[in-house]
This record gives sequence, C-alpha cells and structure tokens, in this order.
Amino acid sequence: MSSMLPLLALLPLPLEIKYSARSRSIRLKLLDHKIIVSGPPHVSEAKLFAFVEEKKSWINAHVTQKKQRDLHYPLAWPQNLEPLVSLPFLGKQLVFGFSQVSEKPLLFFEETQILLTHFMPFNPKLAADALIQGYLKQATDLVNQFCAHYCPQIGLWPSGLKVKYQKSLYGSLGSNNTLHLNWLLITAPLFVFEYVVVHELSHLKHRNHGPRFWAQVAKLMPNYTEAENWLRQWGPCFKLPPFMQET
Ligand SMILES: [Zn+2]
Repeated sequence: MSSMLPLLALLPLPLEIKYSARSRSIRLKLLDHKIIVSGPPHVSEAKLFAFVEEKKSWINAHVTQKKQRDLHYPLAWPQNLEPLVSLPFLGKQLVFGFSQVSEKPLLFFEETQILLTHFMPFNPKLAADALIQGYLKQATDLVNQFCAHYCPQIGLWPSGLKVKYQKSLYGSLGSNNTLHLNWLLITAPLFVFEYVVVHELSHLKHRNHGPRFWAQVAKLMPNYTEAENWLRQWGPCFKLPPFMQET
C-alpha cells in the first residue's frame, strides 16, 4: 500500500478502484472527474495499481487532450446563469437577457439573444427551470419538423418521441420504434442535430449499420459526413450546464 501515495500524486485525476464479479480483465475508464480502474475480485490492489502505473503516460495524454478540447469548445455553457452570460443554441452563442415585464416566466429565442421575462427579481433557480423547458420545447419542435420532412421520404414514422438528457447517447431508436433524442443536440449546429435525427429515422428501415443503412442516410442527407466529423470533434464536449439538474 505504501506505493499508492506517490502514484496517486502523479495522476491528473483521483483514482477509484472497483471490483466486479462479472469482470474478466483489468480495465481503465477515464471520466470527467476521476479515473476508474476495475478488475475481477481475485486481482490484488497492487496489480491494479501496477496496471495504472503502466498506462500513466496514456492517461496523461488523454486528460491533457480533453482539457485542450474543452478549452476550445465554442459552445460551452457558462458556469452560472445570470443576465448577459452567453448560452449555446443551434451552433451559436446567444446573450441571455432578463426583463421584468411579464407575470409568468416567458422565454423567447431570438436571433442574437434568449430573453426571459418575469416580474420577479432575477432568480437563478427559476430561470434555469424556465430555460430547460424552453430548450426542451425548441428541441422537440425541431425534431417534429425534421420528422415531417423526412418520414414521408422513408415511408415510415416513429411510434413516439422522447427528448431528454442522455449521458452518453445522441439519440436512439427503441425496439418499439420510439425515437429518443438528447436535448443537448439543440446546442449544436442545425445540420448536426438534423443528421442525428436522419440517422435514427433511417433505423426505422434498417436496424443495423450496414451498407444499405448508410445508403439511406446519404440519400436523405448527402453531406452527412460533415456532421459526423463535427460530432467526432466536439461531441465529447456535450455536457449538462453546471446550473441545471438532470432532466
Ligand atoms: Zn445508428
């Protein structure tokens, strides 16, 4: 155990050890705030530490790369919600405005700003609630528009729509043909959001990722690889805003 402290001190993030009866080999997982090393119960802690030690330069390189990417991400959320911060919406940063003119909180998405009106003094919790409802509505409306455009071309329709936060998925098509989409897509440029919807709708016809599936995607959206490239570059930066709870 005495070798633990110097090792931890050199890691860029805290290390967590996990044992799982189902795991067959030692694995390493890098999360935003920690590193998890996991393995089967019979493996000693010393062996897990040795594994981490061996991968240390890989860990450092990845964490540095992630920090750099987050730093350059053009659509990041502000730390706090207050008037005049910038909020990402459809690939742009809009200014968040607040005005005390309406009895109920109302949210308006405009060309250069997102405006919240409410007769109360500014309240960050109420504002965050209004904001997330507004984002969810905008995202849902947009998906419905995409469906109205693309479903007749595919000849098939999803059985339902669920727009919500998903930790590691952009979208998916359930076995019952319900379309699930991550609302954070509304922060990305329109063509990226559109591509994810086209991708999932194409699964109505082809469940796999075979050549016929990709031909279908390309037929609906010939330049879809641009969106894939965007997601490859920036998708890992999709995050819930620090001032919002999971929805
Ligand atoms: Zn797919």
